[in-house]
Formats: sequence, structure tokens, C-alpha cells
Amino acid sequence: MSAYLDHAATTPIDPSVWDAMRPYLEGRHGNASSLHAAGREARAAVETAREQVAQALGVAPLDVLFTSGGTEADNLAVKGLAWAGRDAGQGAHLVTTAIEHHAVLESAEWLAARQGFAVTVVPVERDGLVDPERLLDAVRPDTVVVSVMAANNEIGTVQPLEVIGPALADRGVAFHTDAVQAFGRSRLDLAAWGIGALALSAHKFNGPKGVGVLVLGRDLACEQVLHGGGQERGVRSGTLNTAGIVGCGAAAELTATTRADEVPRLRALRDRLLDGLAAIDGVSLNGSRERRLPHNAHVAIAGCDGEALLLALDAAGVAASTGSACQSGAAEPSHVLRAIGAPTEQVAHLRFTCGRTTTQADVDLAASACTDAVKRLRAVGGGALA
Ligand SMILES: *Cc1c(COP(=O)(O)O)cnc(C)c1O
Repeated sequence: MSAYLDHAATTPIDPSVWDAMRPYLEGRHGNASSLHAAGREARAAVETAREQVAQALGVAPLDVLFTSGGTEADNLAVKGLAWAGRDAGQGAHLVTTAIEHHAVLESAEWLAARQGFAVTVVPVERDGLVDPERLLDAVRPDTVVVSVMAANNEIGTVQPLEVIGPALADRGVAFHTDAVQAFGRSRLDLAAWGIGALALSAHKFNGPKGVGVLVLGRDLACEQVLHGGGQERGVRSGTLNTAGIVGCGAAAELTATTRADEVPRLRALRDRLLDGLAAIDGVSLNGSRERRLPHNAHVAIAGCDGEALLLALDAAGVAASTGSACQSGAAEPSHVLRAIGAPTEQVAHLRFTCGRTTTQADVDLAASACTDAVKRLRAVGGGALA
């Protein structure tokens, strides 16, 4: 038996998505920019995918740009909007939060270190939520971009964009959100929340890796990062990845049309897992319980080492993730765990994320394997290798 509970890292391609992609890998090889029949066939497939993504998000197809993934979409939005804002004389200040994905955080930090911008990184509260007042207080007359993720990839907290967005509406800033984890799992209302730019990644919603989306309102000026053939409204050059884009469109449609059933199903599985884990002494939930993605369980388990526990779970066939990245042999707590002030000495932090293919048997296996592994590790003093 094995259980894949790492859908926040990546998801399997849905069979229906693969069926849609396949013809574009096997024979339909046209370049979507070519004028002949093969090119027009590819162009039509790309435009269908653009409509599927637009429909899933409630935006106009013209606002949808395809990229190579979430990382590129975030980089393009943060850098491109910042450069364009500065060129227009609006200022050179950005606001973001301490728990953003590295694609946003490091883009902002690079703009500050190398490009003469100023950046305010707003902390989050102990529950992993940004306080809208604190965020809005950080916005200055010279702010050009505000970037706040819709939901966090580690602890699953859902940020109050419905408060932040409307309050930014008349502040003259571009509002970007990384919605890579939120799409299909929590509500997104781009129009009501004043979201001008939004990033998605297909492989986080049962599409292929290497393709993403930047929704970019046509009223927003955005400097390009990749120069070349001028594809995608001149904002993102490069021959279009037809098969990947077709897969992204099919996956977006699947996600949007099944969301009403999928969200409660995921929540029930996640809650069953949390109930199972609650039987272990010294377990607590990281991040808000209420404002949380339905598929995410992120727990702190006292008295054992995170990596040792992860490896024990792996040996039992359970794929999860830990909130520490192994850097030069030392397990460092992630920037998200540090931002919420989570204790890290002899505390394991584990993320389990459910998805479209997750069953009750998977979460039951994870809970029992975790219970056994914690018992064994605690018996040997936590299991740290040091
Ligand atoms: C996975 C992820 C990304 C990066 O997307 P890629 O397509 O893997 O580059 C960005 N932001 C969040 C929140 C993510 O979870």
C-alpha cells in the first residue's frame, strides 16, 4: 500500500487532460504563430485553452497569458509591473508578505538589492494570516506593486484578499496574487477583489508541468522579462507550448467544473486525517483552521525530528513533506515556519496535502503510519541524526 499526500508539491495529470494533450505531442506539430493549416490548428487549440482558463477564472480570454509555470508568472508580474510602474514615474516601492513563495519573495528582494527598488515585507500573524490593516499601512504614495498570495503553499492559510483588494482599488497600485495553490480550492473573485495580475501553475491542478498562466489586466503596463518573438500580447515571448497549454486549459476546465464536489470531499478527507493524527500526543495544527485550504493538513509534532519522520513515512509508503529544507546537511526551518514563530527545536513539521486521486484508505494509512513512526522515533529520543 502507498499513499501520495503531497499534492501541494505537484499533482498527477488527470487521464482526461492527457487525452486532450496527446494529439499535440504525436502529430499536430504546428507552431501557433504560423499562418498555414498546421499553424492555424495549433492556434485554435491554444485559443480554446485560453477560453477554458478565462472561463474558470471569470476573466476575458485576452487577459490570459501562458507562461512556463508559476515561477515565471510570478517573476513576470512582480518584475514587469515594478519596472513599468517606475518607468511611468509612479515610484519604486513594493509591498509583499513574509510567507510568499520564493518566486515572489526573491523577485522582490532582487529588485531591492539590484534594481534600486524599496520593498516592505509585511509579517504575518501567529495563525499565518496577514493583518489587512498592517498590509494597507505599508502602502505608500510611491508603491507600484502589492503582491499577496491567495493561499500559502506550506501551511495552507487563505489570505484576506477580499478585504485587501477592494481597499487598494483607488490607491493606484498594481495588485498581484499568487493563486497557484488557491485555484480550485478556495474562492477567487478577480473583479470584486481588484486583482490585476494572478499566477497559476497547471501541475498544481492535475495538468502538466512546465506551463502556467499569468492573468494580466489589459489596463496594466507590464515590462517583458523574455524578449523575442512578441507572443502573448508582446508580454511573454517564446513559441507557445501547444500540448502543455492544451493540458492547462483542459485541467482548468476540469478543476472549475468539479470544484463544488471536490472541495467538500477534500475537506472531509483532510479532517479525517487530522482526527487520526490528533490521537498522537503533542500534535498541533500550524496555521488558521478556519481560513485554510480544504486539502491541507500541516501539523507540528513535538519530540521528534522532521526528516527522520518523513523518511519513516516514506518507508511506509506515505509521501508527505516537511517544513524544513535540508541545507548543507542541517535542517533549517522554512521561511514560513519562521514567519509564524513555530517552535523548531525537536519538533517535526509535516505537511499532508490531499488531491483528486486521494482516497479514505490513503489518509487512514498516513495516520496509522505516522502514529507508529512517532512512537518508534520517540523511543529512541526523537530520531535526529546529529
Ligand atoms: C508550486 C508553486 C509555485 C511555482 O510554480 P511552478 O509552476 O512549479 O514554477 C509558485 N507559487 C506557489 C504558491 C506554488 O505552490
